Amino acid sequence: MDFALTPEQSALRERARRYTVEVLQPHEAQFERDHGVLPKAAADEFRRAAIEANLHAGSLPRSVGGQGWSVLEQVIVHEQLGQVTGGLWSYIPGAYNVLLHCDPAQRARYLDPSIRGERNGSYAITEKDAGSDARTMAATAKRDPASGEYVLNGEKWFVTGPDDTDFMIFHAIVTDGDRRLPTLFLVDYDTPGLRLSHDPDYMHTFADRHPQFILEDVRVPAGAILGGIGEADQLTNEWFVEERIHIGARCGGAMERLLALAVEWSTSRIQFGQRIYDFQGVSFPLADSAADAAAARLLTRECAWLADSGADPKVVHARASIAKLFASEAAFRCADRVVQVFGGRGYMRENPAERFFRELRVDRIWEGTSEIQRLIIARSLEKRGVGRVVGEA
Ligand SMILES: Cc1cc2nc3c(=O)[nH]c(=O)nc-3n(C[C@H](O)[C@H](O)[C@H](O)COP(=O)(O)OP(=O)(O)OC[C@H]3O[C@@H](n4cnc5c(N)ncnc54)[C@H](O)[C@@H]3O)c2cc1C
Repeated sequence: MDFALTPEQSALRERARRYTVEVLQPHEAQFERDHGVLPKAAADEFRRAAIEANLHAGSLPRSVGGQGWSVLEQVIVHEQLGQVTGGLWSYIPGAYNVLLHCDPAQRARYLDPSIRGERNGSYAITEKDAGSDARTMAATAKRDPASGEYVLNGEKWFVTGPDDTDFMIFHAIVTDGDRRLPTLFLVDYDTPGLRLSHDPDYMHTFADRHPQFILEDVRVPAGAILGGIGEADQLTNEWFVEERIHIGARCGGAMERLLALAVEWSTSRIQFGQRIYDFQGVSFPLADSAADAAAARLLTRECAWLADSGADPKVVHARASIAKLFASEAAFRCADRVVQVFGGRGYMRENPAERFFRELRVDRIWEGTSEIQRLIIARSLEKRGVGRVVGEA
């Protein structure tokens, strides 16, 4: 493995860094004060600037209008995006990778406008009684033989997307006799029978909302099926692996910013007549955080490199879980330590450390909790062998 970035990758990292520092970060404190409400003009500007910098739709191939980045290149960018609070990167136009399975009509209606920043999709899997164990999903899709349409029913929780999200990828069960066929449907938010039932506030102040939706006898044409009947688990898995790697990268970026802030502060703050950095009680937690940050970065970049090198997808799956598990747990530890190093100032919402402390918590929960990552890793140790999970893939 060669750790050196190519000149193009270095330039990409620099573009992502400038976008994060110059376009997004200046808004983060006000965004927090405004309780997560971003003026439309700012959201439009985030989208425009991302397109201008060629930072949109990074993980999608050039053939559909994306940037065609390798997984490592996606990681390089997400390491920078992770350095802003408020999840403001969420405004960058793009699409869930499952939309690559769109047919031409779906592509024109959902994928193309998402890449242009004109539409936003959400991914609705979780339900009230089906969280970590998606096999208990209750949402149904029944074919109406008279019209050929599908009738969707179900309740979805934590359906993430910015305010102007206008369609969802709805994960439901099509039944065929005794067979349960998990299937994805593309559903516009304005389809009759679909309604937002609850829009709770969460621990973080984020660009994305995570409302609950109820679908009652929502009728969609067969053309709303994404990727084929019974394909949902496979397609969703592709998304999980990609997003777990992105989470690992963003957590690494968050740690880098947290450490930079903490070192700057603690080398200038004087108490008891000396820099607080010279107290080991202050500098050692930062040293531990540096080890955490460096390890998280390596794990995530190595996983990306494996994916790019065509390694066995099952091993990449396990490595993505390792990277997400380690990086999310480490980032939360790091935020906690940095809040402590800032003392009372670390408890102020205007301090990025305070915001990271709340925001990084969810990385241990979404896209599979830390416990579920451990389950995946443990199963993989048994099935693929220890050597392939922790050594040469
Ligand atoms: C802010 C936010 C945004 C989200 N966005 C989306 C989204 O866009 N789309 C979507 O579909 N979902 C989304 N989710 C849902 C998220 O993926 C789930 O919350 C997560 O998978 C856990 O499910 P649950 O909350 O039902 O917890 P549960 O599954 O009920 O788990 C509760 C606890 O039990 C533990 N547990 C469960 N099973 C096991 C086991 N076998 N072994 C050990 N421990 C176990 C869990 O780790 C957890 O600690 C989001 C959640 C949040 C908080």
